Amino acid sequence: MEQYLILFKNDFDDFVERLAKIQKLVAPVKRGSKSFAFDEVTAAEDVSLNYIPTILPPKKYFMPQNETIVEYEKKQNKWEAILYSEAITLFGVHTCDLAGIQCLNLVFSDRPNDVHYIIRKKRILIIGLECNDYCDEYATCGLMDNHNANGGYDLLMTELEDRFVIHVNTVDGEELMGKLAMVKPADAESMTMLNKMRNKKREVFQPEIDIERKELKPLFEESFQAEVWDSIHEKCLSCGNCTNVCPTCYCYDVEDEIDLDFNKGKMVRKWDSCQSRPFAMISGGENFRPERGGRQRHRYMRKFNYPFEKYNRYFCTGCGRCSRTCMAKINLKETIETLIEEKK
Ligand code: SF4
Ligand code: SF4
Repeated sequence: MEQYLILFKNDFDDFVERLAKIQKLVAPVKRGSKSFAFDEVTAAEDVSLNYIPTILPPKKYFMPQNETIVEYEKKQNKWEAILYSEAITLFGVHTCDLAGIQCLNLVFSDRPNDVHYIIRKKRILIIGLECNDYCDEYATCGLMDNHNANGGYDLLMTELEDRFVIHVNTVDGEELMGKLAMVKPADAESMTMLNKMRNKKREVFQPEIDIERKELKPLFEESFQAEVWDSIHEKCLSCGNCTNVCPTCYCYDVEDEIDLDFNKGKMVRKWDSCQSRPFAMISGGENFRPERGGRQRHRYMRKFNYPFEKYNRYFCTGCGRCSRTCMAKINLKETIETLIEEKK
């Protein structure tokens, strides 16, 4: 099979219907005037191709908000690991969210392997959708270089006038296209259109903040005492929305849910947030991060400083969700700009 394929827009309805017949198909759908969510679809009319980042990122399919990981019966000394997975085609994933999934892959395949994540991930086929223009003013994908796809997908679709060019990146992607039997190898005209659009993207997407990407790490490294954390402290409500919507936040707690007979029970992994006060509390009542400003500083460090040391990669994709969702109007772009000003 050719590496690049084309699908004409006239065939898009049929394409979606066929995809939905193969296995569960999940795509961005409209929820409100400016809100979108990944949800199951069966027809093209349900799919929003022109969308701003969904309320929750696709991480909800890889690490659900509530996930039973063990079931047990104490008296029988019976413990069973629950390894659940579902075959899903995740359609229309923006390039910033592809980067987010790549970050989670690094974390959960690090030692010790997180088998629950890895098993789910294996059965999820990812069809990316290239961003040809900005979603809105909150995005910093130009600075983070995530306006282009840097892997992390099985297939990548790029919308061009009357057609989509599809890049086939994996054997799974190739097999899926084979099953659909409705796409053609890309011709020279389509490849010229693709190159033209990508050249245009170089002008459209520019670093949104006046700093080189490689300077972000030293900026945050030296920012521990910065005043910006005091002003954020005054505003932050500790609601945890910013971490819930972040495609690379993965902290969780494990809770025991035991029946009233105190015998049968289950262990449930639940999303947690470093923004909640008890998150860094230890026995004896001490708390490593009792202040809201300190907790926000930690969130930023977990995007721009610590993961760079561990994985040589920033964990901010530039999706803008944290700024878009924050009721206190704490804005990632403004925080970085303030830090730059403070450093001068
Ligand atoms: S920064 Fe905003 S979204 Fe995050 S915890 Fe504070 S108030 Fe909530
Ligand atoms: S920190 Fe904000 S902009 Fe960066 S990946 Fe998380 S939600 Fe997106």
